[in-house]
Amino acid sequence: MTETLTEPGRNCPLCPRLKDFRDNWRGREPGWFNAPVPAFLPPEGEDAVRLLVVGLAPGLRGANRTGRPFTGDYAGDLLYSTLIRFGLARGQFLARPDDGLELVGTAIINAVRCVPPENKPTPAEITACRQFLTPALTGLPKLRAVLALGAIAHQSTVRAFGQRVAALPFKHGARYDLDRVALFSSYHCSRYNTNTGVLTEDMFVSVFSEIDDFLRN
Ligand code: SF4
Repeated sequence: MTETLTEPGRNCPLCPRLKDFRDNWRGREPGWFNAPVPAFLPPEGEDAVRLLVVGLAPGLRGANRTGRPFTGDYAGDLLYSTLIRFGLARGQFLARPDDGLELVGTAIINAVRCVPPENKPTPAEITACRQFLTPALTGLPKLRAVLALGAIAHQSTVRAFGQRVAALPFKHGARYDLDRVALFSSYHCSRYNTNTGVLTEDMFVSVFSEIDDFLRN
């Protein structure tokens, strides 16, 4: 079984501001996860991953609390229901890491592994955490497609592939064919974006339809 992914240590010190924020919340909520959130993989492991979904960062009361990407704060409602709809996940999403939901040929990772204050990582933090994103993008043996959720995830993914952001700008519904994989991008499926209509369910499903077509060919 391949082991390409690099997981940061629980006390990763590379972003002092995020470490302080994490430590502060460890004191306030000792029952929470409060650490860099690891990638969510299918049960078969890295070798089964054909689609990698790249999010922004853990939400304070979401993945930072539960330890699983897009779990615990509504951020995963649209993502997981859509993954299930396209056969890319199975089971029931109950917004808890023990809900038994399994990914199918898909992995989910965040561009920044630690919760940032106000959901806003700094450019230096995004750059620091790219060392944990790059191995997933370049090393997963069967990876064919990447879905970046939002501009920050898109830009960090483009940089991780060694490409120029100006040449591959973020745009909802865009697809860029790179050497090994196709990069698809969507507005982030955050509660804010879905509540305000920036991203509708139809828009999100449309992106997944393209990915589904691509993965079938
Ligand atoms: Fe380390 Fe990434 Fe957390 Fe920064 S965001 S402290 S690089 S795990």
